[in-house]
Amino acid sequence: MAASSRPVGVPKEAADSRAWDTRKLAETVVEAAFRPGVTDVHVRATGRGGEIVCRSDGAMARLCEIPSKKACNALVLRLKRAAKIDRSETAGVGLCSWAAGRQRREVWVQALRSVDGEEVCVRPVRSAHELPSLSALGVSEAEGERMMALFRKPQGVLILASPTMSAFNVGLCAILNAGIQQRASRANVAVVAEYAPYRFDHTTMFLGAHADRRELRATMVRVVSQVFDTIVLAGHDQEAVASEAFKAAQRDRLVIAVLGGRDALSCVERCLAAGVDAWAMSQYLIGVVFFEMLLANCPHCRVRYAPDRHVLSGLGLAATKRWAFQRGAGCKACDGTGYHGFVCAPQIMEVDEALAAKLAASARPAELRKTATASGLRPLKNLALEKARQGLLPLEDVWLRFVKQRHCDH
Ligand SMILES: [Zn+2]
Repeated sequence: MAASSRPVGVPKEAADSRAWDTRKLAETVVEAAFRPGVTDVHVRATGRGGEIVCRSDGAMARLCEIPSKKACNALVLRLKRAAKIDRSETAGVGLCSWAAGRQRREVWVQALRSVDGEEVCVRPVRSAHELPSLSALGVSEAEGERMMALFRKPQGVLILASPTMSAFNVGLCAILNAGIQQRASRANVAVVAEYAPYRFDHTTMFLGAHADRRELRATMVRVVSQVFDTIVLAGHDQEAVASEAFKAAQRDRLVIAVLGGRDALSCVERCLAAGVDAWAMSQYLIGVVFFEMLLANCPHCRVRYAPDRHVLSGLGLAATKRWAFQRGAGCKACDGTGYHGFVCAPQIMEVDEALAAKLAASARPAELRKTATASGLRPLKNLALEKARQGLLPLEDVWLRFVKQRHCDH
């Protein structure tokens, strides 16, 4: 490859080197994984040689072409070796700590099989200190305190849930990080998941993107038998997460089960469907935090505006009243979109005596909802509406998510 066609981000020496210095190229891959917005970098064989591609905001872009199959294989092997994945293994995953310049970078390397040969996927493990604070996500002080009180409970099951199942998104990681800090004095935390993009303090990670259902469950069983004070269980096998969480809670410890659902109560139903018995639920469930992540108004260009009448009436708001809703007008900081970052609207359900009694009695969902509502559970729509009234997001987005979309679902 001629130096003039050197792709952006590839060190000059790496592109110029005739031998394609594998170590330097591997460093390029690791560095690329830490660029803002990048979630994963792939090294894969192509018909002619190979390529390095970057995924940023969901879109794949080629970072650089590798001229021969031999160079591509050498790079794949180098990354696998760094992550202690056996060279013969085509579906392994490993954590590797990489010295890049003066910095130490941690990445997950996953071996994959592709049509044209071997492939590796490199994902960054960022420090949890880079996560936004809960207040930066629009979580109020009162909401934050209610969530943290659940994390401070010495034992039981706390369900942390969102509509996107087991994804360790920014919201989930920010809540988890704040929660782990609450337990810091005696923190001895284990996370079992398919993948986590952040490294939490005082935490041992047991991850495996390669793990099939049985393997991930076996890891959960193994970790649960160890002496961790706090255990976080996540994974696509939601049945395993739910049932192992309630088994793990039988020892005195806090277990955080990461589940997907429609709202806080739907997670209770999910556990019952997974075979957790009603009595165990009533004994061990301490609460559910269900959160929605919504796009936030850009703080640099948000302005007051008057929402359409049909949006106001759809949300049960009087069109005659003077509201102070805000939306982003679009500026340089937000690329003209009017949005920047996320707002997290947590629905918090604490299991009090009344709700525990209903759970023990295998009450029907409608009855559980009535009791939870009496104990202060609020509908998601109202929680998001409150954030809109604070000017954190446009009213239309609340209407789209909770009125229009819900209407189309049925
Ligand atoms: Zn803006």
